[in-house]
Amino acid sequence: MHEMSLMESVREIVDEAARRHGATRVAVVRLEIGALAAVDPAALRFAFDVVMRGGPAQAAALEIESTPGSGWCWDCARSVVLGAGGTDCPDCGGHRLEVTGGTDMRVKDIDLASEEEVLSCA
Ligand SMILES: [Zn+2]
Repeated sequence: MHEMSLMESVREIVDEAARRHGATRVAVVRLEIGALAAVDPAALRFAFDVVMRGGPAQAAALEIESTPGSGWCWDCARSVVLGAGGTDCPDCGGHRLEVTGGTDMRVKDIDLASEEEVLSCA
């Protein structure tokens, strides 16, 4: 399951961000996933729960935002927006497409919980 290894690298980023800001707890982790990334959000949420265990993001909320895919159509000679699994040009229906974006996943941002919030929860 490659969602697990994706999440391992997310954890590195999240842990590093928390460490750098001296935060002991992470409130929200926002991920941006390209429509063509072939990542299963359900598997990703499962991986998140497993991988974040024991770290500052253990109780964090996971928010997943989807970004559209993009490609270059050789027939239209321009960039087009591609939906999930899109292999046809939405404008001309052609197949001479080169995918140029929306195939990756990245950490969009991370909300760190402040110490005050942590204390008020205790
Ligand atoms: Zn086209």
